[in-house]
Amino acid sequence: MSLQIFDTLARKKRNFSPLEDGQIGIYVCGMTVYDRCHLGHGRVMVAFDAIVRYLRFRGFEVNYVRNITDVDDKIFERAAERKVPFTELTAEMITAMHQDEKYLGCQMPNLEPRATANIDSMIRLISRLIAQGAAYRGSSGDVYFRVRAFPSYGKLNNRRLEDMMEGARVAVAEDKENPADFVLWKTAKPGEEFWDSEFGAGRPGWHIECSAMSMDALGDTFDIHGGGPDLKFPHHENEIAQSEAATGCTFARYWMHAGAVRVNEEKMSKSLKNFVTLDALFKNFHPEVVRFFLLQSHYRSAISFSDDALVQAETAYTRLIQVLPDEATTPDSDTIFEFQELMDDDFNTPRVLALLFELASKNTEEAASSILAIGRVLGLFTSGKINFLSEQQALKAVNSELSDTAVNALVDARQKARAEHDFAAADKIRDDLTAQGIVLEDGAGGTSWHRK
Ligand SMILES: [Zn+2]
Repeated sequence: MSLQIFDTLARKKRNFSPLEDGQIGIYVCGMTVYDRCHLGHGRVMVAFDAIVRYLRFRGFEVNYVRNITDVDDKIFERAAERKVPFTELTAEMITAMHQDEKYLGCQMPNLEPRATANIDSMIRLISRLIAQGAAYRGSSGDVYFRVRAFPSYGKLNNRRLEDMMEGARVAVAEDKENPADFVLWKTAKPGEEFWDSEFGAGRPGWHIECSAMSMDALGDTFDIHGGGPDLKFPHHENEIAQSEAATGCTFARYWMHAGAVRVNEEKMSKSLKNFVTLDALFKNFHPEVVRFFLLQSHYRSAISFSDDALVQAETAYTRLIQVLPDEATTPDSDTIFEFQELMDDDFNTPRVLALLFELASKNTEEAASSILAIGRVLGLFTSGKINFLSEQQALKAVNSELSDTAVNALVDARQKARAEHDFAAADKIRDDLTAQGIVLEDGAGGTSWHRK
């Protein structure tokens, strides 16, 4: 049985064989830490965590590296808004990110290099590119990568340089030789954060960070490079160009990209705004449910996020939890083999979850043990049956109580509906409130309410 991975660069599934027997080096682009993580970040975290967990289960020794981008315009802007040093903002967001990740049941990467701790290495890589003629300093002082010096520029995204130049002709920095050239080092403007370098005071561009840190951690050529869907272009295209122009050898051997998380604006419920961050999502749903929801889709497919979809995931996951055995026993080896076949086919987690439901309907002790064993490989069922059910219950109890503000808002909405003679809408609000134990009393002075 061979492991197949869809390689974005080859645009097809390829047999996977690591550079060194039994060992895998994987680099995933991490977060820019200026705000709380949202479900899109959670998806990348969970997708690669499940992949790494499976590769380890399959016997590989995996070195999982994920960077932290702690130098970025968005970071400096947000820190300025808050009037705090940027390092205070990034420290806060990194702590929050680790907390979210822990809740999602993700194992920590083996290494989390931070951009601010690796500026020297980026400067060295830029000097190397300048020495080789693959980079130049413009009249503004900014250093650019010369895309003309890398003939296969565009190979990851299957784009031709000529077409990209057409598209980039508007808004071109005047000191660039070519509109598609991109910045490696930005000269500091007055008041900005800067680091000293042989090309003057400034800071590195974002792309160079990942080339420098991934090669430092894993070598010039390594097995897998991954990231979110929006990073294919230009970020990963530029990483390839910088790295391969500098070393003259293949950068990453397999490119993996997670799919997007979509929120259908039209279907967005009022409460959805609360779900933007993982932190807010966890107030309504158990983190294991969120992880299960994410694994229900193949890591490369787009996910449509809605309230209903999460509620359905919650029901489904609770069903699996309920059939779990109290103690782990030996799972059925044929079932484990089937699981492995599904995962070997480019990590097909939706098919694996379907297999778990087939097992659940068998209602045997052996099937239950297989559900537990397989789920654990994917990082599910981490709280344990008893804990999950009681945590779930506690969460429901907290959320079942409508706040006074929410009740007042609904009473006002009902009043408005009545004033507009929309009695069906008004009645529906009253019925919904009654169902939640809120009693309305209409009187001469308006509507008052109390809890039953
Ligand atoms: Zn990156």
